[in-house]
Amino acid sequence: MRDQFGREIEYARISLTDRCNLRCRYCMPECGVKKLPHAEILSLEEVLRVAEIFSRLGIRKIRLTGGEPLLRRNLTSLIFRLKGIAGIEQVTLTTNGVLLKTLAHELIAAGLDGINLSLDTLDAATFANLTRRKAFDKVREGLQALLDERFNLKLNCVPLIGINDGELLRLAALAKVNPIKVRFIELMPIGCAWQSGLKGIPTAELFKTLEDNFGELVPVREKNSLQGPAQYFKAKDFVGQIGFIDALEHKFCSSCNRIRLTAEGFLKTCLSFDTGLDVKKLLRMGVDDEELTEKIRETIYRKPKEHFFKGAAGLRDSRQMYQVGG
Ligand code: SAM
Ligand code: SF4
Repeated sequence: MRDQFGREIEYARISLTDRCNLRCRYCMPECGVKKLPHAEILSLEEVLRVAEIFSRLGIRKIRLTGGEPLLRRNLTSLIFRLKGIAGIEQVTLTTNGVLLKTLAHELIAAGLDGINLSLDTLDAATFANLTRRKAFDKVREGLQALLDERFNLKLNCVPLIGINDGELLRLAALAKVNPIKVRFIELMPIGCAWQSGLKGIPTAELFKTLEDNFGELVPVREKNSLQGPAQYFKAKDFVGQIGFIDALEHKFCSSCNRIRLTAEGFLKTCLSFDTGLDVKKLLRMGVDDEELTEKIRETIYRKPKEHFFKGAAGLRDSRQMYQVGG
């Protein structure tokens, strides 16, 4: 379906949990995390019901996220059933990779179409500092398992001044020898990112550094509208691609095709605002599919024109990234 600004909305990010086995400094506080009680998190049956309604409204791609989605029990059965919904063409997942080695085979067997693996560093000590957990070896093994499978893989890296700026070339070079996409995502001023004191590296600056080292980055034209907000480039002799998501300076709002469902069943139509629809409340009030579809349709139609990350703090959603799903 189209929203009030004529954007075709076809991509839903569904968060399956607010829990996580890492504590990345820009995303989740070390202490004082209030976990949602289990009863407040949508059951898998509820997720499936909403996904069916989404598909009837034109959603073609679903990305599962969190918190850490691999912590959710029966994840593979959910993927299998989502893949069975008419109209859903792609089901993908964003993960920190800690549990990936164990689960990779069953996720692939369930029909998962792609994985975005968050990897900000290739150094175990930097990983422990940034994520406050010693799990680098597990993530590295998970990454290797996907590379061995030649699975559809994207790496997500948030470039941070004084943290991983010395290894961004090494990270980008993973796309030189592997048929994967290495994506650099600008740090977004959401939740903990404000208080952490971390500073992101602007995309333009990183772009120049990469070109100085790898030569011209040639844009790759994406024909697929489900591709998302990244812009992709190819460097000479690279088998894979380098992508950039520069959310702040180059707003991609005019072509934003996505909606988000939080783990507690709140439909968000823009990452930066707290407005949306309490889908869980409606589900548990016993509304029928017709009414639920109408309410979701109205909410999607009113999707805000653009984000407001650079505006006054009071206008921003107070939810943290791990509560929304990135
Ligand atoms: N736990 C999973 C993971 O880390 O991949 C999925 C959820 S996580 C919230 C999704 C993505 O959001 C990750 O790639 C993470 O790097 C990114 N993220 C979290 N906080 C961010 C921020 N303030 N700015 C930019 N990206 C952020
Ligand atoms: Fe967990 Fe992902 Fe947030 Fe890191 S970015 S704390 S792995 S939810």
